[in-house]
Amino acid sequence: MLSETTRWMDLDKQSSPRVLIVDDTPDNIRVLGTILRQQDYQINVAQNGVQALNLTGKIMPDLILLDIMMPELDGLETCRRLKQDPITRDIPVIFLSAKAEDEDVLQGFELGAADYVTKPFNPRILLARVKTHIALRQQTKQLQAFADRDGLTLLANRRRFDEFMRSEWRRCHRAQAPLSLVMIDIDYFKLYNDAYGHLKGDDTLKQVAQVLAAVGNRPTDLPARFGGEEFSVLYGNTDHETATRFAQDIRAHIEALQIPHSDSKVSNVVTASLGVATQVPDDQHSPLLLIEEADTKLYAAKEAGRNRVQE
Ligand code: GH3
Ligand code: MG
Ligand code: MG
Repeated sequence: MLSETTRWMDLDKQSSPRVLIVDDTPDNIRVLGTILRQQDYQINVAQNGVQALNLTGKIMPDLILLDIMMPELDGLETCRRLKQDPITRDIPVIFLSAKAEDEDVLQGFELGAADYVTKPFNPRILLARVKTHIALRQQTKQLQAFADRDGLTLLANRRRFDEFMRSEWRRCHRAQAPLSLVMIDIDYFKLYNDAYGHLKGDDTLKQVAQVLAAVGNRPTDLPARFGGEEFSVLYGNTDHETATRFAQDIRAHIEALQIPHSDSKVSNVVTASLGVATQVPDDQHSPLLLIEEADTKLYAAKEAGRNRVQE
């Protein structure tokens, strides 16, 4: 799985769209495969609803072609479950069915399908519909990604941070696992702007952001621009000792950038102060506790002389 950061940085180069075909009849799969192969699509196949549900979360297709009449879990129930899961909810589903009564079609749309194609279908028209829904899906994904990231640094923005924090808090609560937050604030950055100008300041923020994206890059980590010249990295399932090590790495890497800062009172290069907080989420508290604690530690790092980690 890609880390959050990698996924962001890679936004502009989208790989070829992935289509999942769900049908219990091998002949139908062959026909659909032949039609879809006219485009540069990656194709996956599931032969029943259960397989489709298992596969979808793993491969995250851009479109699902879903047969309705299948044994055990039929297409309608499969669609219902896909739409209940926040992870798979937004993947467009096109029903393919011999059931062509108005009521059947309406039921398909009511379940959240993007489209409903009756069998037998015209291959060219099916392909046209597939292309339309994939294009829409990709546009939505791109807009979503822009809504989630900070325009200057390309890191997660505050909105995304808050959302990720809530979901990681719940996930670590269920698992009774530690969740760690590192808060990072650049030292004497106002003086840096005063000395070198805001544009150079922006450049420095970008360089610091790249350090955060590079250190401790796992799917559960989220480096974010918390606001202004303050950043945060959230480490799911990570104990205090490990998070402190990451924070020390970050501090060292920022210093190693060797960005001149003649007006800093603690160094002649740009440095940062960091606070580390860890909680095993419980019912009595909210994510705010973790943020407040990391903030208090960060303040302590400033008080103790800056360019350091307060664990
Ligand atoms: P301290 O060591 O106590 O953190 O001092 P500081 O000067 O870094 O802290 P202060 O909060 O006084 O100043 C933060 C500065 O960060 C002021 C603000 O102009 C600058 N800043 C915030 N956002 C941006 C930005 O997007 N670009 C630039 N260039 N500067 C920014
Ligand atoms: Mg600062
Ligand atoms: Mg600040």
